[in-house]
Amino acid sequence: MSARGGRIVLGALAALTAGAGGAAAEGPEKWLRQGRKAVENAQALRPTAARAKNAIIFVGDGMDLATVTAARILEGQFQGRKGEENLLAFEEFPYVALAKTYNTNQQVPDSAGTITAILSGAKTRAGVIGLDETVERGDARGAAGHELRNLFQEAEQRGLATGVVTTTSVTHATPAAAYAHSPERNWENDSNLSPAARAANFPDIARQLVEWRYGDGLDVILGGGRCHFLPTTTADPEYPDATGQRGDGRNLITEWQKRHPKGRSIWNRAEFDAVDPAKTRNLLGLFETSHMQFDLDRSKDNAGEPSLTEMTEKAIAILARNPKGYVLLVEGGRIDHAHHLGNAHRALVGTIAMSDAVRTAREKTSEKDTLIVVTADHGHVLSISGYPTRGNPILGKVLENDERGEPSTEFARDLNGLPYTTLGYQNGPGARKARPDLSAVDTTEPEFRQESLIPLPHETHSGEDVPVYADGPGGNLFHGVQEQSYLYHAIVEALGWYKPDE
Ligand SMILES: [Zn+2]
Repeated sequence: MSARGGRIVLGALAALTAGAGGAAAEGPEKWLRQGRKAVENAQALRPTAARAKNAIIFVGDGMDLATVTAARILEGQFQGRKGEENLLAFEEFPYVALAKTYNTNQQVPDSAGTITAILSGAKTRAGVIGLDETVERGDARGAAGHELRNLFQEAEQRGLATGVVTTTSVTHATPAAAYAHSPERNWENDSNLSPAARAANFPDIARQLVEWRYGDGLDVILGGGRCHFLPTTTADPEYPDATGQRGDGRNLITEWQKRHPKGRSIWNRAEFDAVDPAKTRNLLGLFETSHMQFDLDRSKDNAGEPSLTEMTEKAIAILARNPKGYVLLVEGGRIDHAHHLGNAHRALVGTIAMSDAVRTAREKTSEKDTLIVVTADHGHVLSISGYPTRGNPILGKVLENDERGEPSTEFARDLNGLPYTTLGYQNGPGARKARPDLSAVDTTEPEFRQESLIPLPHETHSGEDVPVYADGPGGNLFHGVQEQSYLYHAIVEALGWYKPDE
């Protein structure tokens, strides 16, 4: 039985237990049967012998285990079930590992250092993209000669197609690590460069994207961040009162179009829908002046934006036309931003959107030739706590069980007699001098900001390990507790690229 066969059986069981509110089919029989079936699936699991032709790397920015668990419950509850029994799409993958996320100079990491580890195979300093750990953050002169090779350069050199899809600016840390080498993640356009970097004519990240010299360049680039590509003298197409941020007068979108005369550059939903993958080889889609909308808010966007799922599907359709295969990075980038705001609702909806994109990617590819890896770059300080009863709304206040183990009729109270939520943050903007009375507050509504303990303007990352889920050829390499830089080496091995003499 293949890994996929195992997943279908598990999925069918989940559906069986899920029907009619879920509770009816649960009972001792279910756990015993499901447990035995899972053992049989585990015994039948065989690594795919073939090399991977394609690799898709999904990064849920900040999508740690607490976020995955809470999102899994929320998705189940959106479907009218209790929720805890639900599985997100990538949680049905057969192989799982844990990755240690620290940067070479930081116990709790940032996204630049962690994504460099994932895509280049070597950990580096926080804030640094695609350069080794000997380069100090912000040292433009020290960067030369310390560039780390990455998956995307190697894919282009081997003639594969490459793509980057994100909900953030395409110049933000995670997508930037696919093509840029910068000692400072914030140098997204030339106006952000330090005086020393500008004096040295060090290329900003948007410029590095357009001037990237490997193969025929990135084939598909979808996300936000027009302001980093347009000059201050050019009005934004969607927000006429806004302009680009480039101080050097360059219009990098026009420059990209010149470099790819047959490529298409687009900025809104209608243009995206009109792109025919069979007739498109190069696609640059920048759908917002800065980051794209949160998944929860996307439908309200004026010009319209494609979803992460739609962008992923379009990217695969274009890249898959290359007979040599492709490497694609897909980032659910705003899970992290919602967490930084102390807004669990948007973070969880973003995680469900990532799951949808992974499901579509698996459906549109074959597990026989396409490795899919799903991970996070780092965690956040979200916790799932209290002793809420089974099926309690995950965004709600804690309703405990009574002494018989049945749901109480009243919310649990802290030592001062106030109710509290299941989800909370260790730090961030949700901290108050004294705990608020949430009795009359709907904590499940989107704008609610979970409470936090330590008052900080932004909630922070966490230093805990993150999960790695894998499926397809080479998926079996993703096991055990690994340094995050291991992911690159496992992907290279799965693609059959490793040569000992290189
Ligand atoms: Zn972050």
